[in-house]
Amino acid sequence: MIMSKKHNFGAGPCILPQEVFKQAAEAVLDYNGLSILEVSHRSADFVRDMEETRNLVKKALNVPEGYTVLFLQGGASLGFLITAMNMCRDNKRAAYIDTGAWSTKAIKEGKNAGLEIDVVGSSEDKNFNYIPKNLNLNGSYDYLHFTSNNTIFGTQFKDFPAFDGPLVCDMSSDIFSRPINVADFDLIYAGAQKNLGPAGATLYIVKEELIGKSPLSIPTYLDLNTHFKKDSMFNTPPVFSVYTSMLNLKHLIANGGVDAIAAKNRAKADLLYGEIDTNPLFEGTAAKEDRSDMNVTFTLTNEALKDEFDQMWNDAGIVGLKGHRSVGGYRASMYNALEIDSVKVLTELMQEFATKKA
Ligand SMILES: *Cc1c(COP(=O)(O)O)cnc(C)c1O
Repeated sequence: MIMSKKHNFGAGPCILPQEVFKQAAEAVLDYNGLSILEVSHRSADFVRDMEETRNLVKKALNVPEGYTVLFLQGGASLGFLITAMNMCRDNKRAAYIDTGAWSTKAIKEGKNAGLEIDVVGSSEDKNFNYIPKNLNLNGSYDYLHFTSNNTIFGTQFKDFPAFDGPLVCDMSSDIFSRPINVADFDLIYAGAQKNLGPAGATLYIVKEELIGKSPLSIPTYLDLNTHFKKDSMFNTPPVFSVYTSMLNLKHLIANGGVDAIAAKNRAKADLLYGEIDTNPLFEGTAAKEDRSDMNVTFTLTNEALKDEFDQMWNDAGIVGLKGHRSVGGYRASMYNALEIDSVKVLTELMQEFATKKA
């Protein structure tokens, strides 16, 4: 098998199970006599696998009747615009919770779609290190948009906002990491590359009755109705990304599904946060009750130790630990496929560092 012995704590694209890498590699060489990279998306084999992938999403998340699953392109970044255009109604006004970076970009695209955007909750006052809980929902809104997990700032909604209207969520960095009640949402979207598969596909889970109701004139590709009517095959889909996502979903379901992975993710998060909270050389940056199980942000208590610590984790084969420039310090992203043994490599190294400096 492969592969590298590195411990991938990168924020995205994500680590995937080794078995999935192997199966995807095999399909590059042989997908019923062709390569998955050359096969027609209209071939019976791929049409079947596209349907299978859409069904596996439903199975993994217990998606109720009345929702469709689509795989588009453009990433969550285009999703910001697509969701605003499609969820717009006569108010042409939407509520957004600003929890930093990605939600800030979603707000910008909501405005680009021509909507009035009210920021009904924000944690900007503390560099987005917490989840705003009291929302100022006084207007008539077409929908409420929020980001379930804030990849850059290391915060995560543990309880979803209560809203008496359509709820739209960018779930890019924690979808499939824990059970969710899809019926609570009207539209969920997520770039595949944070927990589902390789970059290229963007997943939409949409309540069917909401499709095609926008008063805006939406360009063909950006209209969810285009894709809904064509079973996510309007144009060439990102075949390899969808296929590998299918492999990953099968792997997830075979290993106990989102309930089992949530327990595993919790154990990894407890291990690392436990170390951060007890080790005098480190401190977490996010408010404790809002800390993300996916992206753990922390800093050194003494910046002068940076070079030495960086050398240590580099030598241990850890990659992707550098924090985002807007937070600084470190960010350990622990997506589904990261094994707890990799987290132990990191926590043991942090302990060793503290002993050395004591
Ligand atoms: C990475 C990320 C995005 C951007 O995704 P792209 O697919 O690269 O456009 C948006 N939202 C969140 C929460 C992310 O983590």
